[in-house]
Amino acid sequence: MTTVLPMLSIVVPIYFEEDTLPQFYDRLKGVMEQLASAAKYELIFVNDGSTDRSLDLLRQLSRDDNSIRVIGFSRNFGHQVAITAGIDHAQGDAVVVIDGDLQDPPEVIPEMFAKWQDGYKVVYGVRNSRKGESAFKLITARVFYRCINYLSDVHLPLDAGDFRLMDRVVVDALCSIREENRYIRGLVSWVGFPQFALSYDRDSRYAGETKFNLRKMLKFAFDGITGFSDRPLRISSKLGILCTITSFAMIIWLIYSKITSPSSTIQGWTSLLVVVLFLGGIQLLSIGLLGEYIGRIHRETKKRPLYVVAEKIGFNNVD
Ligand code: UDP
Ligand code: MG
Repeated sequence: MTTVLPMLSIVVPIYFEEDTLPQFYDRLKGVMEQLASAAKYELIFVNDGSTDRSLDLLRQLSRDDNSIRVIGFSRNFGHQVAITAGIDHAQGDAVVVIDGDLQDPPEVIPEMFAKWQDGYKVVYGVRNSRKGESAFKLITARVFYRCINYLSDVHLPLDAGDFRLMDRVVVDALCSIREENRYIRGLVSWVGFPQFALSYDRDSRYAGETKFNLRKMLKFAFDGITGFSDRPLRISSKLGILCTITSFAMIIWLIYSKITSPSSTIQGWTSLLVVVLFLGGIQLLSIGLLGEYIGRIHRETKKRPLYVVAEKIGFNNVD
């Protein structure tokens, strides 16, 4: 009797990776060939609107390799959306998401596969060490993960990125979530199921540099926080309560000093200004915070598709 091999889909977001792609493909292919006796596989590359030679290279590779599927976006839609598109198109019994810059070593995939066979529905990579990242990135990442866990309602594992294996049940649940402010690692936590943390050493980029500048990181951080929590709003109302209580105390104190020593109440320019500036600051901050949430509601209500596909290659291949 022949047993049916499970199928693995490997999803790779690609954005200006022409210098890394050939090397990445060789390493990934090598790993998948080693696994060939245990699993069938497809390699889904999502070109997130890069205009270098990445897409050409992918087209070339797909000519000689039946396992390659390529999705070309009409423009850049962002890392999280690229991953979403790959997952949407995946046929496998399990899906592995891996960055195309060789920071996530493909050699870890067999370990993830083994844990999946043990029954875990999600196996996520936790970065033991992160080579070649700037001190700034390391510090912001540390602060961010701790903040988000304090602020949001789902628990996010520390130092886990998007490098992970997900079972079909998790993938189906994930595909049914169409919200635009995507924070996939949070959504995967939210979905639940037994999850396993697999630690690995994160390498430095093979070539090129990170596409996440401070602006993109901040947006990503806000997506993560606002997508899973309204605690910031509650904090701002708590601040409001605190200010109200303080101002009542001030009122009583002011009236009291007016009655006891009427001549000395003209002073107080400094304290007045401090109070005005402080309140002004808190008000602007709270309005800005409200704006963040409202902006996200606004984007969400338009119900636009998450991405636009310009071309698909290799999806009709049968082996
Ligand atoms: N990427 C993408 N769209 C983007 C930015 C990045 O598909 O708008 C891809 C990129 O090609 C890489 C992965 O996402 O495979 C991670 O990007 P990057 O290395 O720039 O992020 P970092 O590792 O610094 O967080
Ligand atoms: Mg990277």
